[in-house]
Amino acid sequence: MSSQKIGVIGSGLIGRSFTMLFVSAGYKVVVFDIEQSQLEAAKKDIWKQLVALESQGLLRGKLTKEQQFENITTTSDLKECILGSFFIQECVPEILELKRKVWREVDSLIDAQTIMSSSTSALLPSAISEGLKHKNRFIVSHPTNPPFYAPATEVVPARWTDPEVTERTFALLKEVGQVPVLIKKEVDGFVLNRIQYAIMGECYRLIRDGVVSPQDCDLIMSQGLGVRYAFMGPFETAYLNAEGMYSYRDRYADMILGIQQSFGPPERMDGPTLDLIQQDIAKVAGPVEDIGTRRQWRDKRLIALAKLKRDM
Ligand code: NAD
Repeated sequence: MSSQKIGVIGSGLIGRSFTMLFVSAGYKVVVFDIEQSQLEAAKKDIWKQLVALESQGLLRGKLTKEQQFENITTTSDLKECILGSFFIQECVPEILELKRKVWREVDSLIDAQTIMSSSTSALLPSAISEGLKHKNRFIVSHPTNPPFYAPATEVVPARWTDPEVTERTFALLKEVGQVPVLIKKEVDGFVLNRIQYAIMGECYRLIRDGVVSPQDCDLIMSQGLGVRYAFMGPFETAYLNAEGMYSYRDRYADMILGIQQSFGPPERMDGPTLDLIQQDIAKVAGPVEDIGTRRQWRDKRLIALAKLKRDM
C-alpha cells in the first residue's frame, strides 16, 4: 500500500502521532487543521520527535527521518486533505457534535472505497457515523498514548462497518508497527479504558477505606502487577501461576469470587479522598506547576521500556 496518500484531520497530540506512524511506512500524509498555528507547531514538533526517535534508535520503517518528514504536507483546505486519500484518520477534540460535523463534510467528498477512521477514546462508532452516506466505511482506531511507545490500538467497527474496512485497517496499523486489537462489540469505554477504570475504582475504594495510602497503592502497580503486565496480561499470568486455567480455577476461583463480591459500587472521585490522593501523589510527582519535569521522567522510562520490549 506504500506511496499512497493518507489524510489526517486535526494536528494535536494524536494527529501528530498518526502522521508520524503513517510516514514511517512511506505514505504521503496531508494534515488538515482549522488552526494554522497548530499546523505550524505540529511540523516543528514532529521534526523534534523524529530527531529524538532516531537518536533513541526507535525510528520506525526503512526511511530516514528526512525522507519521512518530506512526506508530510499541511493544509487549511479540507478538500486538499481528503481528495485522493484512501484512508482518513480524524483526530479532532472528543466532542460528539464536532466529530459528526467533520465527518459529514468528509462524507460528501469521498468515494465508496475510502476508509474513514476516528481516534475517539470513548465515543461509539455508530453514534459518530449514523446518518453518513458511507457509514459502512467508518471505523474507530483508538491508540494508546503515546502511540510510539505503547502500540496497542483498539479497532472498533460499528455494526454496519464492512468487514473489508476492518481487515484493511488492521493491515495498515500492523504495517506501520502498531498492534491492532479487535473490539468485537461497541461498548462504552471500549476495553482499555474499562480495564483502566476498574483498576482505578478499586484503588479509590481502598484508599477511601483507609486500607492503603495513595503512594503505596501506586507502588503495588509500579513494582508489582505493572511489572508483569508490561509483558503479559492477567490470563497468561494466571495460566503460568498454576498449571493452566483449569488448575487455576481449582485453586483460586472460589477465593476470587468471594473477593470480587466484596467490591463496592462505583463512586465519583471527589471530596476528602481526592484531596488525600492529590496531596500524597504530589509528594512523588512534584507540584502541578512543575509537572513537565515529571512528564520528562515518565517519557524517558517509557522509551527505555519500549527499547527493552523491542529487543527481546
Ligand atoms: P488535541 O486537542 O491535542 O488536538 C485536536 C486538534 O484538532 C487541534 O489541533 C485542533 O485545532 C484541531 N481541530 C479542532 N476542530 C477541528 C476541525 N473542525 N477540523 C480540523 N481540526 C480541528 O487533541 P488530541 O489529544 O490529539 O485528541 C484527538 C482525539 O484523539 C480525541 O478524540 C481524543 O479522545 C483521542 N485520543 C486522545 C488520546 C490522548 O491521550 N490525548 C489518546 C487516544 C485517543
